[in-house]
Amino acid sequence: MTRASGSTGPSPAGGGPVPSLNENELVVLGSAAEGDTYAVIAARLGWNPKSVNKMAYRAARKLGARNITHAVFLACQAGILDGRPRRHGDHAGYAAHVARKEEPCEACWIGERAYRTERRRARKAAETAKADAA
Ligand SMILES: [Zn+2]
Repeated sequence: MTRASGSTGPSPAGGGPVPSLNENELVVLGSAAEGDTYAVIAARLGWNPKSVNKMAYRAARKLGARNITHAVFLACQAGILDGRPRRHGDHAGYAAHVARKEEPCEACWIGERAYRTERRRARKAAETAKADAA
């Protein structure tokens, strides 16, 4: 039950059905399309690098790609990735989901929670500093 953006995109080059990638596979593929390495993706999302590797491998296999670069190319052709930067896994990604009136993906939820926790911590630290100064 994916609401993949590919459903409304152009047909894949081969004319076959658009493979359905799950949200995690899309996040990894989208991040790779923006130049992030697996290590960067793993660190940003707080995932195990092996999981990122596995998701990339699964996405590539579903697309019939030989490697991640090929997978990104095929995903763009298939309309699964639109080629526009689309961040996932942080506050900006979360805000983008909200702007598109979508349910935020899991990665964006995790990133948003971390963002809010950090903001709360920073606010508290600022209040404490103010109280100490007084
Ligand atoms: Zn997201």
